[in-house]
Amino acid sequence: MGAPLPTPLQIRTTVDARDRPLRDLRISVLDRCNFRCPYCMPADQYPEHHPFLQRQDLLSFEEIERLARVFVGLGVRKLRLTGGEPLLRRDLPLLVGMLAAIPGVEDLALTTNGVLLPRLAESLRAAGLRRLTVSLDALDPAIFRRLSGDRGEVAEVLAGIAAAERAGFAAVKINCVVMRDVNEDEVLSLAAHFRGSGHLVRFIEYMDVGTLNDWRAERVVPSAELLARIAARWPLRAVDAGYRGEVAQRHAYADGAGEIGFISSVSAPFCGDCTRARLSADGRLYTCLFARDGFDLRKALRGGDDDAALATLIADRWSLRDDRYSERRAELRNTPRDRVEMYHVGG
Ligand code: SAM
Ligand code: SF4
Ligand code: SF4
Repeated sequence: MGAPLPTPLQIRTTVDARDRPLRDLRISVLDRCNFRCPYCMPADQYPEHHPFLQRQDLLSFEEIERLARVFVGLGVRKLRLTGGEPLLRRDLPLLVGMLAAIPGVEDLALTTNGVLLPRLAESLRAAGLRRLTVSLDALDPAIFRRLSGDRGEVAEVLAGIAAAERAGFAAVKINCVVMRDVNEDEVLSLAAHFRGSGHLVRFIEYMDVGTLNDWRAERVVPSAELLARIAARWPLRAVDAGYRGEVAQRHAYADGAGEIGFISSVSAPFCGDCTRARLSADGRLYTCLFARDGFDLRKALRGGDDDAALATLIADRWSLRDDRYSERRAELRNTPRDRVEMYHVGG
């Protein structure tokens, strides 16, 4: 990870209208994907010829690194690369190396569907990536295939996780989005598969991100229900949050076989501790996963703004931030409005 900041005076703490500091930045490196998960990029809405961003629309690695430095100057300590599928971005390990070298970055992670890890895990690790999250919604091949939008095989993702282990990634986070009547019965097999492996499976409530995934409340499986099912098989005890803003509620197996986590943004929203900014692949800043629109930082970057001007733009934007969609879901859900799609802001 990068060297410590030369002087603490260079660090600003930027808080929003609800007193939430800016601590994390999720960077989407492209909006394309080799999957079509129905909860994110449903195949009928996103055919192969869908007008995804073109190369000139994407921030270059230099532009991403420059913005990341500015965000770090405003208090960001954690960076996460995401997408679309981030491993489809050419030469990604180069970007990882550039971000790992930024002084003040304490944590650099990446979220992927895992298919390209056998090719890339080693070079990502060598470039300075320290933490990996791999999405895996089912172990049953047919259910997995359905949840990949008929694009992927579960064996490829398991091979990706094995490649990550060989490359030195310990404690991989495994993300599983649970949908009622689709993969809820996979939860016990996933827990069984990863118990004792050192990896942490996190079950995520299906969210109403964007407007195209046909979300319905009855398709959400509340975490409490999953917790009860798993605890009936393997007794669990709750683990205290490790830090402010930890989104997953963790539970440890009583027999010492590791932990599992639940991300319950529908049944137990955590907006009060949300310290995340999101940067889309075309350089828009989003202050919430459910935001209508993002603020165009690419225009400022390409228009010649210097770092101080960029910092002021971002800090101003953050200080106005009042988002708390998940806490207000019931009230806002039925107000028709646009919302950014998940694959633009990367989850
Ligand atoms: N393509 C990569 C992947 O799937 O890991 C990174 C981007 S993906 C948008 C990031 C995370 O968002 C994944 O773990 C995915 O399962 C999750 N996700 C996408 N749509 C979701 C939804 N509607 N509700 C909950 N999680 C969702
Ligand atoms: Fe692609 Fe990830 Fe969205 Fe699935 S969740 S469609 S893998 S971006
Ligand atoms: Fe953060 Fe918005 Fe999610 Fe609330 S709804 S936790 S503010 S991203």
